[in-house]
Amino acid sequence: MLYTSQTRHIHMPQLPELDQPHFNEVDAARQYLECLRWGSRLVCPHCAAVEGHYRLRGKSHRAGLWKCHACRAQFTVTVGTVFECSKVPLNLWLQAIYLLCSSGNVVSARDLQRAVGVTYKTAWFMALCIRRAARSRRSSRRLSLRGA
Ligand SMILES: [Zn+2]
Repeated sequence: MLYTSQTRHIHMPQLPELDQPHFNEVDAARQYLECLRWGSRLVCPHCAAVEGHYRLRGKSHRAGLWKCHACRAQFTVTVGTVFECSKVPLNLWLQAIYLLCSSGNVVSARDLQRAVGVTYKTAWFMALCIRRAARSRRSSRRLSLRGA
């Protein structure tokens, strides 16, 4: 249990699940997100084309960079997500998401700061983004169920 009513603090144990590579390595986190988002079907976030993409692997290219054959735009798995403009490493984002979701969303920014190892300001921002994204996803799911 993460919440202890006696201390009024969230206890953030080192969960065994957090030992997984995608919580600890940036490259593993990016590959994990690529698998979650695209699976075996890569979709260009700019034009929605599904074929002809190729990975850019030059020294001057950042890891995980793709180029769309149809629209010629470059993209990564973070385009259009809460991670897109963030300088926080992806594996820390995944840790924060996991901790917020597995705790029933009762983790404070201070708890997140301690658990993930970022500043309070960054932890507060991350929690805000994650909660907004989750709320937005729930709303769109509700809307799509009404229309069905
Ligand atoms: Zn495209």
